[in-house]
Amino acid sequence: MYRVVIFGGTFDPIHIGHLRGIIETGEILRPEKILVVPAGHPPHKETKYHTPPEDRLEMTRLAVRGIEGVEVFDYEVKKSSPSYTIETIEEVEKRYGTNDHAVVVGSDSLETFTTWHRYVEILEKTDLVVIPRPGHLDGLTLEEVERSIAPVSITGIVRDFPSPGCVTMETGKGRRIVSLPIREINVSATEIREKVAAGKSVKFLIPREVENYIIEKKLYRRCEK
Ligand code: ATP
Repeated sequence: MYRVVIFGGTFDPIHIGHLRGIIETGEILRPEKILVVPAGHPPHKETKYHTPPEDRLEMTRLAVRGIEGVEVFDYEVKKSSPSYTIETIEEVEKRYGTNDHAVVVGSDSLETFTTWHRYVEILEKTDLVVIPRPGHLDGLTLEEVERSIAPVSITGIVRDFPSPGCVTMETGKGRRIVSLPIREINVSATEIREKVAAGKSVKFLIPREVENYIIEKKLYRRCEK
């Protein structure tokens, strides 16, 4: 299922919530390739402070190195304009010559999906794969999904497809929203940044290579959420 799966994020820094999400999504959907896409200038994050895109890109590279079928896609970091998912999808279509793709979002991101740039077009162009994040749309009911994608609606549901525990919803736009039954991991990049700033350990919450990079580059010493 799918030639290309896109997993985007700020990755400031990338952590085990992202990484288990990438691995378990790959195990369930078995795409040819998962593209991990660090945002260049994330329009959703209204924080004043951001780690330079080059550092977030490098930490992402270090974290996924050696994970089979997973590649870092630097398109958003390399462009100077804001990172809009719809444009990344269009770029993936151009580069890989396929519309057999899906975009992974955590359930917290689905909650705010109607604020995404050209979100109805995203739902027309690609499938959305939703992974659970504790405290956000727990259980992912039909009503919650419809509220999150309005005015697009769900026209059909197939349970246990493409594998047990998954719920696949058909949208009136000819694409699907697929909810995956993967492990919930209660960790956020905000928590990692706060811990580093407070001098606490982040061992086992991020890969060792990323931890070493943070120390070497003195990232997150000051904590501005
Ligand atoms: P921050 O704390 O800085 O807001 P974050 O931890 O939410 O960051 P992002 O880089 O914004 O991380 O997330 C990228 C994508 O990964 C989003 O779709 C988000 O919903 C998802 N995601 C982040 N953390 C988790 C997690 N622990 N479990 C599942 N999905 C997650």
